[in-house]
Amino acid sequence: MADCIFCKIAAKEIPSQLVYEDEELVAFKDINPQAPVHVLIVPKKHIPHLLALDPADADLLKRVHAAISKLTRELGIADSGFRVVVNTLKDGGQTVPHLHFHVLGGRFMNWPPG
Ligand code: AMP
Ligand code: ZN
Repeated sequence: MADCIFCKIAAKEIPSQLVYEDEELVAFKDINPQAPVHVLIVPKKHIPHLLALDPADADLLKRVHAAISKLTRELGIADSGFRVVVNTLKDGGQTVPHLHFHVLGGRFMNWPPG
């Protein structure tokens, strides 16, 4: 989608620190990390938020799970633990209207979130 920053990153029109890519996903380091490890897993397709996912996108969620599994092992947080966050719409604190999965780790993640 025009003027979507994550569409542009997925299309390599804007540089990012890519850590993973397959046919349907990219993952890159968050520009403003909130933990020692903070990556974003982003569908290449423009999906505005979690509830805009279609049942036909089920395969995408399998890929997201596989990417989380691979990335957390590679980034050394699979055993210590990590948090996956999908901020959704206004009260969820979503600031980029293109679905993304935050993967945060490398320190203890507090609860409740702010
Ligand atoms: P959210 O607030 O959940 O929508 O998350 C958006 C995230 O995207 C924030 O953590 C930002 O730091 C991150 N972000 C915004 N622009 C970029 C960019 N160009 N490259 C990497 N991360 C970005
Ligand atoms: Zn987009």
